[in-house]
Amino acid sequence: MNVIYPLAVPKGRRLCCEVCEAPAERVCAACTVTYYCGVVHQRADWRSIHEKICQLLIPLRTSMPFYNSEEERQHGLQQLQQRQKHLIEFCYTVAQKYLFEGKHEEAVPAALHSLRFRMNVHGLNSVELVPAYLLLAEASLGLGRIIQAEEYLLQARWTVLKSTDCSNATHSLLHRNLGLLYMAKKNYEEARYHLANDIYFASCAFGTEDIRTSGGYFHLANIFYILNKMDLADTLYTKVSDIWNKYMNEQYKLFLQNEAQQDLLGKRFEKDTSLDEAQEAEAIRILTSILNIRESTSDEAPEKIIILLKTLVMLYHLMMNYSKAKEYGIRALDLAKEKLLGVSEENTIQELIRVISAEDYPMI
Ligand SMILES: [Zn+2]
Ligand SMILES: [Zn+2]
Repeated sequence: MNVIYPLAVPKGRRLCCEVCEAPAERVCAACTVTYYCGVVHQRADWRSIHEKICQLLIPLRTSMPFYNSEEERQHGLQQLQQRQKHLIEFCYTVAQKYLFEGKHEEAVPAALHSLRFRMNVHGLNSVELVPAYLLLAEASLGLGRIIQAEEYLLQARWTVLKSTDCSNATHSLLHRNLGLLYMAKKNYEEARYHLANDIYFASCAFGTEDIRTSGGYFHLANIFYILNKMDLADTLYTKVSDIWNKYMNEQYKLFLQNEAQQDLLGKRFEKDTSLDEAQEAEAIRILTSILNIRESTSDEAPEKIIILLKTLVMLYHLMMNYSKAKEYGIRALDLAKEKLLGVSEENTIQELIRVISAEDYPMI
């Protein structure tokens, strides 16, 4: 944390807190362009996002230099827009990752930044604001601030209604969040309606078997689980774990092919899940939560647990978290032996563990 100076407010300029927009009392000493109402909001912002973007804000918030020509001025403006667009995406991904990790408090300042940059670049009524409203709604829900969540969702819904060019992906996210809001209010009928819409729009955007559609199935399954409709919940959980298993199998195959080529060419390939950090966090949250449910309901279908464990092995392996990957591999192997799932299943799992071990202790 950097030093905090009391703020000397320049004459005639009203400066607002970065987090709550109250009159500012302090300034960040590192960038000198970011203001706060007090130390609490400065610390919160620093921990969430400011530490990562502090220096990037300087060119955005200092006044534009004098340009010699119109051409130069246009170029300057364009550059400014590019920087803001980069920050929109960056703050969005950071906030989303916090959300998937369950760190709702930390997500708020990052999500607010994404919203403000969107307002600067796209205007106040643009559908581009919707993803940021949705992040803020989700964070509010996580913090138990249901009324605030509802306000953000109303904003989002209103913006979508007014716009003519809202993508299916955005419609899907809006309905997913409305579904989660009604779940929090224990209005399961309404929640089901919105999650069904989420699945519909996500399927239009990405296809029915896509990992980006799986979130809708997952939340719908949770509702059936709460309502004790176990058959429906089970079918949907199976669908979600199949989607992720298929996805990870494909990624893992690519990785093994690259490894084989690497031996031939002596070239080094990066390991990759092809997911961004937020998606990786979502995958872990969804897969472990289904795993917990499967393990807690006395189950006659260990195959379903094995699929989840193997998917987690591949995911953690490609994320280069070898100890976690191995841990899940060993759990899968023990379960396969205990439930007598057969030699071929045991061999598959042993092969997974063998590849991780080779990574874990590279030969020199
Ligand atoms: Zn404040
Ligand atoms: Zn700063």
